[in-house]
Amino acid sequence: MPFVPDTDTRRVALVTGAARGIGRAVATALARDGFAVVVNCSGEKSLPAAQEFADELAETYGVPAAACAADVSDADAVDTLFAFVADTYGRLDVLVNNAGITRDGSLLRMSEDDFDRVIAVNLKSAFLTSRRAAKIMMKQRWGRIINMASIVGVVGNAGQANYAASKAGIIGLTKTIAREFGARHITANAIAPGFIATDMTAELPEKMLAGMNDRIALKRMGKPEEVAELAAFLASDRAAYITGQVIGIDGGMSL
Ligand code: NAP
Repeated sequence: MPFVPDTDTRRVALVTGAARGIGRAVATALARDGFAVVVNCSGEKSLPAAQEFADELAETYGVPAAACAADVSDADAVDTLFAFVADTYGRLDVLVNNAGITRDGSLLRMSEDDFDRVIAVNLKSAFLTSRRAAKIMMKQRWGRIINMASIVGVVGNAGQANYAASKAGIIGLTKTIAREFGARHITANAIAPGFIATDMTAELPEKMLAGMNDRIALKRMGKPEEVAELAAFLASDRAAYITGQVIGIDGGMSL
């Protein structure tokens, strides 16, 4: 159920893939910081959970919060999502492109479908949402676009050609947005998490998980909430002079 913003000036944040994992933690941190939040999920199946989460945010933090199902790799669905944001809040200040999937496999065995799907969900989605968001933010002369990349997009990873390419693409997209819209006080930054405890990493085979902590300077996986604090900072006025950056948050994994 859409909420009416309680002030004309309350900033509005849209977080894609926000019903669980890192996106959920980001939406929570932004609600805590006073943003009205739109919780996006991938489809009707996850909408009840997204709706319940939005209601929980509204109740806990006293901010307007609403949920909208949309497969962000689909241009028509993104149009629907932005129509929802416009109808519900009439503005958009922060876009967090967080939705992402993996379909891992060695390059030699990777199907074209697995390559295309990961690029569509992880990269094309951010193109579709950012061009809609930038239009709104340009008029408002303020905006924050925060893209969830990965350390894998910087250093590559065996078995993740599609995923690494999508995350490297996100980095190029982020830097370009930063250059194109900087004059309008719109910043764009990429967050590059290492190994964070979510459903995505819980799916990894035992073989990959074994010895992972040894490769991390801090000797543990990260928490979604730790990534969320970086996103909340980038969304704030405190980060006004940071743009076009790729900020690693990986416990020293990439050292
Ligand atoms: P997760 O727990 O698997 O959650 C993925 C989220 O993406 C879910 O909310 C899911 O929505 C959403 N999603 C998937 N396909 C979508 C689509 N087509 N349209 C809209 N939403 C979609 O993953 P996570 O670990 O939180 O990852 C979040 C982001 O961080 C991803 O971009 C991931 O690549 C990145 N990242 C994660 C790690 C890590 O170690 N976990 C490291 C580096 C980067 P539903 O609930 O509807 O399925």
